[in-house]
Parts: sequence; C-alpha cells; structure tokens
Amino acid sequence: MALRLGPCSPSSSAAFSCSSLDQETLPARTSVTTWSCQRGKNGAKFELKASNVHPPGAVSLQNEAIWTHSLTANPVKTQEKESPLAFTESRKEESSLSIVVVGASGDLARNKIFPALFALFYEDRLPENFTIFGYARSTMTHDDLRKSISKNLTCRIDRRENCNEKMDQFLRRCFYHSGQYSSEEHFLELDKILKEKEAGRRSNRLYYLATPPNMFVDTVRCARRRASSLNGWTRVIVEKPFGRDLESSRGLTRSLRQYMSEDEIFRIDHHLGEELFENLLALRFSNLVFEPLWSRNYIRNVQLIFSEDLGTEGQGRYFDDYGIMRDILQNHLIHLLALFAMETPVSLDAEDIRNEKVKVLRSIKPLCLQDVVVGQYKGCSEGNASYPAYTDDPTVSKDSLTPTFAAATLFINNAQWDGVPFMMIAGKALQSKRAEIRVQFRHVPGNLYNRNFGTDLDKATNELVIRVQPDEAIYLKINNKVPGLGKRLDCSDLNLLFKTRYPSEGPDAYERLLLDAAKGERRLFIRSDELDAAWAVFTPLLKELEQKKVQPELYPYGSPGPVGVHYLAARHNIRCVDFGY
Ligand code: NDP
Repeated sequence: MALRLGPCSPSSSAAFSCSSLDQETLPARTSVTTWSCQRGKNGAKFELKASNVHPPGAVSLQNEAIWTHSLTANPVKTQEKESPLAFTESRKEESSLSIVVVGASGDLARNKIFPALFALFYEDRLPENFTIFGYARSTMTHDDLRKSISKNLTCRIDRRENCNEKMDQFLRRCFYHSGQYSSEEHFLELDKILKEKEAGRRSNRLYYLATPPNMFVDTVRCARRRASSLNGWTRVIVEKPFGRDLESSRGLTRSLRQYMSEDEIFRIDHHLGEELFENLLALRFSNLVFEPLWSRNYIRNVQLIFSEDLGTEGQGRYFDDYGIMRDILQNHLIHLLALFAMETPVSLDAEDIRNEKVKVLRSIKPLCLQDVVVGQYKGCSEGNASYPAYTDDPTVSKDSLTPTFAAATLFINNAQWDGVPFMMIAGKALQSKRAEIRVQFRHVPGNLYNRNFGTDLDKATNELVIRVQPDEAIYLKINNKVPGLGKRLDCSDLNLLFKTRYPSEGPDAYERLLLDAAKGERRLFIRSDELDAAWAVFTPLLKELEQKKVQPELYPYGSPGPVGVHYLAARHNIRCVDFGY
C-alpha cells in the first residue's frame, strides 16, 4: 500500500511514499500502524506511527476529495443499494422474520406501522421469509385487515413502476389473529400459526406493542410464555409512554424484565428515528470544525424547539393524561439534548453511545417550578375562522390543567457545560410547525467590528441551526462584509438545504426504527438507565405542578405561545427572537 500526501499539506512539495510495517490493535478500537516512509526516490527513510490505519497524510487526501465534491452543488443520490436485512447468525433463506403488530386495529398500526413495513418491503429491506401478523381483540378476517391497511400504503415517489404489484405481494404476507392481550391461550394459538408460516426455519420474532400502556405487561408475559421463538430471537418494541414518572416507569421496567431481558426490549420514540438524530452524530464527530467549539467556552446557549401548528383535534385522550412535558420534553427533547451534549463515545456502537448519553442525563439538575413556563391553548377567531380551545376537545376534560405548551431551562452540571442554559420549547397549536436545535455562540472577544453593529452584540454572534422541519437544513449564521465600499457587515447563512442537496425522499422515522429493531441495532432506542435518568430530571417538577394545580398560561390557538416564555428566556440572557417563531 503506498499513498502520497495531498497537495495542500505542509510537506506536499516533497513526495512521500509510505507502506505499512505492522499494526497493533489497542483497546477502545484504536489501531496503531507503523509506516515506513521515504522522502523522494533517494531521500531519507524514516518510520512513523499513525493511529486508525491511514498512513500520514492519507486523511488530507480523503478530505480533499470530499471537499472538491461538495463544492460542486450537485444533488446527491440517497438510494444506496444495500443488501436486504442481514441475519448474521444464519444464512438469509434459513431464517424467518415474523412481525406481530399488537393492537393492529388501532390508529398507530394502521397509519404508521403497516405503511412503514410496506416501505421496507418495497425497498427490499425485509428478509426473504417474512410474515406480518396483526393481533388485537377486534374480530377481523385477514382480508379485513388487508383492506384496512391498504388505504395507507404508498410507494416511494421516485420508484412507482410496480407499486400495485408490490402492494399485492406485501398484503399476501399480512395476516390477522384475534385475541385478548392477557390470554396465554390466545397467544398459544398465535404461536401455532406462526410456526406454520415459519415452516421449520430458524424463527426470529418481533412484537410491536401498539396498544395503550396498560396492556404492555400482559402482552409481554403471554408472548414470552406462549409465543416466543425457541431457536432464534424474540424482541419487543414498546411504544411510549413509558410510565408517568420515575416510580411508574421503574415499575413498568421491572414488570417487563420479569419476562424479557433489557436487550430484548426496544423502547421507541419515533422522533428519535428522524434523520436529525443520526446526523447530529455525523455533524459533531466527522467535522473537525464543530467539536472543538462544543463546550461552555464557545456556546452561550442551546435551544431545542418542537412546535406544532395543530392542537389535539379530537385526539386528546392519551395526551390529556400525559401533557406536553412528558410527551415531548421528557420523552424526546431530553434525548436530543443528551446526544447533543455527550462526550465523544468510544465508537458508534449502541452501548457506547448510550453510556455517554446516560452520563449527561445524570448530570442534569432536576427541574423545579421557576425553571419552566407552562401554557395551554385557548380558542380564538380570526375573520370567519374560529379555532377551538384545548378544553373544547371532546376527549379532554373541561377543567383540564394539562399543559399543551412548556418551556424549560436545564443545566448540565459538568465541566463541559457548566452554566450553559439548554432551553427546551414545545407546544401544540402554535404559529408554526418547527423542529430544530439552535446553537448560539458567544460574542467575539474584543470584536473589531462592534461599531458596525451598534451596541447590539447579540446580532453579531454566530448561530448554528439544525432543522428538521420545515425543510430539513443545517445552516450557520455568519457575519459577512457587504460587498462594495464601506465596512458594513451583514449576517448571512451558510446553508445546507437537504431537499436541494439530497432530493430523494428519506425514510419515515418508523421505517428506520423497525429496521434497526429487526437488525438488533439499539442506538436509537432508549435503555432503562437513560429512561430512569430522564425521569429523574422531570419527576419533581411534574409532581409539584400537579400537587399545586398550577394553572397553565393561556395562549391563543396559532400564536407564538405564552408571554411568560420571554421572561424565562430573558432571565437566562436568551433573546426571544432566537426561538425562530
Ligand atoms: P388506539 O387507542 O387506537 O389503540 C390501539 C388498539 O388497542 C385499539 O385498536 C384496541 O384494539 C386496543 N385498545 C384500545 N383501548 C384499549 C383498552 N382500554 N384496553 C384494551 N385494548 C385497548 O391507540 P393508537 O393506535 O393511537 O396508539 C397505540 C399506542 O401507541 C398508545 O399507547 C399511544 O400512546 C402510542 N402512540 C400512538 C401514536 C399515534 O400516532 N397514534 C404515536 C405515538 C405513540 P382492540 O379493541 O381491537 O383490541
């Protein structure tokens, strides 16, 4: 193997050639290779040690290639061709995958799970021998199930040719079995039918619990005792909510662990399957420019924003019991925060990532009342249109105090983040639909350009925005001189707009997570100690809110949210304009 230094490297004028002598593998997945190098044809010979296999200079060569490529603003194809789901333990045709969607008569199954499974099938991501079973109490034939799910199946926009044919093939693999969630006898029947479909192959079984949470433990007990695989794996995907507070969450985990090991439990929050989560890691750990800035030394505050422009619209039944604090802040945004703030993991393996996440979660100071603002949307009318209040939802109690909006400032008590406010904002029926992380950097010390911005230093700070919606993008706000005579500065964006750069439609979050669960990839699922630590941050506050019956601040449907959030932000020196509403 011989490689040369790139033209931009300091020693590029003299050609090097290097070849590897030996390689020692160290713990923590680092390998050190000794390279024998020579400068020019007859030049001095010398030895160099380099980690991670590349010879000295090879990285700069690679970077140069990528850089050149990214400067040509051509769209990038995202449909990489991968082999179907690999089952490492046996040859593909010898094993079978049975996916059992429990609660198959419900909205989640119909609207999300079956369509995601079809998308995986359409993309050839499912193994050759797979079967899908719907399981619920409702009486239905196989055809009834097929009819009810077929309405929601769609093909990828750019590959429609054989859509109907693929749908037929998929639906022929879908079956239904009616049974009680707590009946071992009914699960035994299911087991019998599954075995017929598995036809003596090694069987892997994936249960998706799309039922209300009070059915989880019974279902897992029955599945484990009567319908788990005897020669392959059995896994269970558990839908949120995972408890209402620290105690109930621990209770649920304890009960599930009577029947399944932690490795077999996949706690899902579908937001964690969005592109942003994966990309946050890539952004941080594959770009030299960001990681050195990722600390209290350079970052002034971080905002994690998740706003919806719709209310509960008649679907408030579950929500009313949990509220936005549990549904979005505790369940979703805190995991985003942990990924954002964690230290570099040893590797991209699930356990290494989750180990780092849990350290961050355990360093967060538990929240109390003065750290938060809670709100609830009220009805309003505009012209001829009128918008309902949260309590107008017929599935919600008239005197509900459940917050539909919450903002909270969290602090991480560690050396990296001490004193940096992380502000989470989430709400329903707001002005816009938005999901993003906004990273505000500190002021430039002794900024020579201060005069050009007057006294408003806030305008001059850099800001990195990682946006999921609307329009996935990553952009960096930088200061730039306005072309021409004079020295006036303008705040402009370096903008990576995903739909321009990667025009193909990306997978739905459920697709990614289902595929990961089937592969045994746990990175985006929540481990019990992460869950514990996340609940520990919110539980004291949730109890205080409920015990004191704190009235949420009312805000009109379609507005930017409660005014109180501005005061909370001001207390931590965060400008309201930063929320991006
Ligand atoms: P559903 O209310 O539609 O429930 C799913 C199925 O569970 C129903 O079809 C019903 O099937 C059974 N079921 C409902 N209520 C009961 C009950 N009290 N006792 C026993 N069985 C019952 O819920 P969803 O499909 O909307 O959601 C399922 C779970 O996923 C919930 O826990 C929800 O919080 C969570 N979730 C839902 C999301 C969504 O987009 N809908 C998003 C994220 C999480 P049958 O009567 O036929 O047995």
